[in-house]
Amino acid sequence: MSKTTIVRFAPSPTGRLHIGNVRTALLNWLFARKAGGQFLLRLDDTDRTRSTEEFAKAIRDDLAWLGLDWDDEFRQSNREARYAETADRLKASGRLYPCYESEDELDRKRKRQMARGLPPLYDRAALRLSLADRTKLEAEGRKPHWRFRLANAGPGADPASPEADIMPTRVEWEDLVRGSQHVDAGSLSDPVLVRADGTYLYTFTSVVDDIDRAITHVVRGEDHVTNTGVQIQIFEALGATPPAFAHFSLLVGKDGEALSKRLGSLSVAGFREAGLEPMAVNSLAALIGTSDAVEPRLSLAELAASFDFAKLSRSPSRFDVTELDAINARLLHMTPYGQVADRLAELVGADAEQFWLAVRGNIRRFADVHGWRQVILGQITPVIEDAPYLAAASAVLPTEPWSDATWTQWTDAIKSATGRKGRQLFHPLRLALTARENGPEMKLMLPLMTRGRVAARLRGEIA
Ligand code: GLU
Repeated sequence: MSKTTIVRFAPSPTGRLHIGNVRTALLNWLFARKAGGQFLLRLDDTDRTRSTEEFAKAIRDDLAWLGLDWDDEFRQSNREARYAETADRLKASGRLYPCYESEDELDRKRKRQMARGLPPLYDRAALRLSLADRTKLEAEGRKPHWRFRLANAGPGADPASPEADIMPTRVEWEDLVRGSQHVDAGSLSDPVLVRADGTYLYTFTSVVDDIDRAITHVVRGEDHVTNTGVQIQIFEALGATPPAFAHFSLLVGKDGEALSKRLGSLSVAGFREAGLEPMAVNSLAALIGTSDAVEPRLSLAELAASFDFAKLSRSPSRFDVTELDAINARLLHMTPYGQVADRLAELVGADAEQFWLAVRGNIRRFADVHGWRQVILGQITPVIEDAPYLAAASAVLPTEPWSDATWTQWTDAIKSATGRKGRQLFHPLRLALTARENGPEMKLMLPLMTRGRVAARLRGEIA
């Protein structure tokens, strides 16, 4: 039996969700739901100064608005004891070693290496410190930070051996989006996992969490590919089998620029305030950069059914916020009444379904229904271009009850009575009855308007 799929979405509660992290959340969610697995929410809140409870709440609200439910939630700030005991294991096995260089010293080392044309990699000087050296440094008041000793001396070499030089070692994995991947551990400095103040870095905490929560797939942006090379080694150093990885390409702006600068204006909160539909955001976020057409989908279930990592492109995808508007409009045009009944109930009353079917093709945002409600069921000032013609039309106005057939019946009668056809026949009627140049089909609106209102408008009365 294969094990249950478990994925996690791991935002830092240091800001609002934006289109980039919506995509991360959504790709994880769709994959988990399609597999019948679990989707966990992990708050990466180890940065105490920038993480806030307000942002954590906002993230939950935004996910809920999008319809992305989670099976469990946990936060890194509650797990420090677990990180400490796991770090102790790495210290005991020699994979985590204490270093005492200050930022300045490290900076000078890097500059010297670069001046000699060498890559600015940490030289592992701390591995050569004797116990006496360390005692002396600590007596001077220096507190160690801890680096993870990358295995990069080739197979069979003792990774903890101080003699093992920095040599290229490939960390390899089969990425679900990018195919066969490797990171050359010889091109990386041993990463710091524990700071001098005892706090842990994400590179480490993420692996500990992924092991403890039995995460089966890590789905994230390709900006994490190098991290993956390091993290796979940490999984292995802890005796765990690494999860599968899927790194999707990042979104760029419509001119190819990095999206990060404009993310503020691309927040979920912003989309919600602009009156966009969650499924418009979900459809675009899920389908952009895939081999499927970017088009509105009515439900997350529908998106999940067609989800496949193999459809994700490896090159960056252009995100244009105006596309979101277009998708929103197309989504509304095809939305069945059942999906908006709640929202229309108070606004429209008894004829809500006919009302929706009449107007949905003419709105771009749901809030546009207010304008059409006013036209169809409220008061407007008619636009009268040709009063005698409208009087003639009024004279042949059918009696109620009205149906979808009434408009044709009426306009046929007007045609016989006046000899008009085409735009000359129709347009003055639309202007008088709606005060607008364009709009929903008259045949759908007319039965909702009622005869009394129509007759008054034809006389030019505010009705
Ligand atoms: N907090 C990390 C981020 O937002 C999580 C990355 C990961 O999925 O491992 O980039």
